[in-house]
Amino acid sequence: MHYFAYRNDELYCEDVPLARIAAEVGTPAYVYSRRTLVHHARVFRQAFPEALICFAVKANSNISILHTLAQEGIGADIVSGGELFRARRAGVEPENIVFAGVGKREDEIAAALKQDIFMFNVESIEELNLIQRVAQELNTTARIALRVNPDVDAKTHPYISTGLRENKFGISMDSALMDYHYAHRLSHIQVQGIHCHIGSQLTTIEPFIDAFKIIRALALELIASGIDIRYLDMGGGLGITYEREKPPLPMELAHAMAPLMEDLPCTLILEPGRAIAGNTGVFLTQVLYTKQTEEKRFIVVDGAMNDLARPSLYGSFHDIRPVQLNTSGEEPVKVDIVGPICESSDFFARERLMPACHHGDILAIMSAGAYGFTMSSNYNSRPRAVEVLVDDDQYRIIRRRETLEDLIQHEELPQ
Ligand SMILES: *Cc1c(COP(=O)(O)O)cnc(C)c1O
Repeated sequence: MHYFAYRNDELYCEDVPLARIAAEVGTPAYVYSRRTLVHHARVFRQAFPEALICFAVKANSNISILHTLAQEGIGADIVSGGELFRARRAGVEPENIVFAGVGKREDEIAAALKQDIFMFNVESIEELNLIQRVAQELNTTARIALRVNPDVDAKTHPYISTGLRENKFGISMDSALMDYHYAHRLSHIQVQGIHCHIGSQLTTIEPFIDAFKIIRALALELIASGIDIRYLDMGGGLGITYEREKPPLPMELAHAMAPLMEDLPCTLILEPGRAIAGNTGVFLTQVLYTKQTEEKRFIVVDGAMNDLARPSLYGSFHDIRPVQLNTSGEEPVKVDIVGPICESSDFFARERLMPACHHGDILAIMSAGAYGFTMSSNYNSRPRAVEVLVDDDQYRIIRRRETLEDLIQHEELPQ
């Protein structure tokens, strides 16, 4: 759910018309609804009152977003030293930070140890050995979970499916017991959990439950063999509605998991990203041209794949709505909505039936709050978009639009 809705033919974010924001801050622009963000944080907290909920920072890493979530008691699931820096700057406490990723560098491990984060989600034995050495050098102990790969098919897009045997993530179930006993013997490692994350944009409960049963069995086995497993981190992955998907609600997942938790002396950790932030944001873009070729009708907009990569990267669907409904009675038309970038993959929609659009119209690309701005780049030397946070009838710029000077600020001319 979200707080973007039409009132008198005008699309609003909470109590602010999106057309007004576009007129005042320009386009392209990301607009987030604080009310939606807080609502989603509370839905997770209510469904899992005992759990540690760590927002996957890679979904939306703006420090205002992280700060808002931290105030709701949500921690951070980080995958880099950069995300650690952001989370701390946003006010996320170290005891609410977990650190995943297959390629943690030594300096990133050291930074996380110095900050005394809650847990490393370790993805290989080599990484474990490095964490042991860095922890020893810093005269501290690293709390860890091993990320295990339950070999469960998340039935999602192959690029965001991570829990299969062939994926690069985690350690295999076959060696998990042995690896846990190895970790347990290391002097500067404290084993405290099991981690898994099987993929993103999951729209059914079954893969979660299948994975959880496997993790649960491993936990019971480890506990019986004297390893103190206290945390089960089931990762993120709950999907959202982009088109017609009906993903499970956090409460449904909680109910399905509850009976499997009962006899476990463990606290749950969850790492939702998309489910918290996805429907919190829209991407506003302005129609530059309507171009009719022999084959097709194109709507050329001022946003592009560098701003919002999901359609070109995954072929994903985003609902696209005019911020002012066309009341002229013109027929809807089938169009491709494309950006100005020199790639044919630069599109937001193909063969989409849209209300008639004209030069200057503002379109809202819905469900752009997760993996939107965070995946943006400067490709084609396009300054990155402004980010805005709406709060009831007010809004605030939470990241200014990049300037042309920003584009070259780290570059040097030859002497
Ligand atoms: C990406 C990721 C998440 C978040 O996934 P969502 O589908 O956005 O909920 C959580 N944990 C890990 C380890 C991830 O890589």
